[in-house]
Amino acid sequence: MKTVKSITIKLPGEIEILRDAGRILAEIVAQLQVSLTWGITTRQVDERAEQLIRERGVLSAFKGYRGFPGSICMSVNEEVVHGIPGNRILREGDIVSLDVGIIHKGYYADMAITVGLGKISPGLNKLLDITRQSLYKGIEQARTGNHLSNISHAIQTYVESHYFSVVRDFVGHGIGRSLHEEPEIPNFGAPHEGPILKEGMVLAIEPMVNTGTWHTKIQEDNWTVVTRDGRPSAHFEHTVAVTASGPEILTEVL
Ligand code: MG
Repeated sequence: MKTVKSITIKLPGEIEILRDAGRILAEIVAQLQVSLTWGITTRQVDERAEQLIRERGVLSAFKGYRGFPGSICMSVNEEVVHGIPGNRILREGDIVSLDVGIIHKGYYADMAITVGLGKISPGLNKLLDITRQSLYKGIEQARTGNHLSNISHAIQTYVESHYFSVVRDFVGHGIGRSLHEEPEIPNFGAPHEGPILKEGMVLAIEPMVNTGTWHTKIQEDNWTVVTRDGRPSAHFEHTVAVTASGPEILTEVL
């Protein structure tokens, strides 16, 4: 694991704002999920997302980020992450990752879910299930006194025990005052390495899990990451605060 410069510790007042940011984001994603169906383009979903973000008085953390054109990232089937909403028409049986980041009062929250459209194959159902569960295995390790890589190791171990693979080229990250803060949080690696987790750290934990090889490549649009073998991939993400009483998932609707 590479050396980490510094990890920001958020003050209680900042955690309070991040709690609001996380709740608002979770509500936006829940509402967005309701309007997700087949027969529409990913751009139409993006427009709905933009509307929901505006209605809540927050900003998209992705729009314009290094020139990203969408309000959210949408990655379908073999697309892993960073898909640009556009003319792709969603079909029944597709799996769609919705990755949404917002800025609320200057603070950032980030989350992703992957949803099956209509009836999906048992294999895809299992992929979604294992990826979602692996996120919670990682979150379980986000405790004061643990090494950062305990999160990584828990995710990898769980995923590989179900014969799926974890993406190596993209990782989770610290978050809060900006979208991507130190440290990087890989979804793989040996346990008991890297920095020790402390109260007030806020982490975006985001396993990306492939049915085939973990290798990826980037499409010609310079954004969309796809699996190198063209097989499906899933992605789940939560923004999590390390607190004295354990991990607190900020991006969950209670
Ligand atoms: Mg993220």
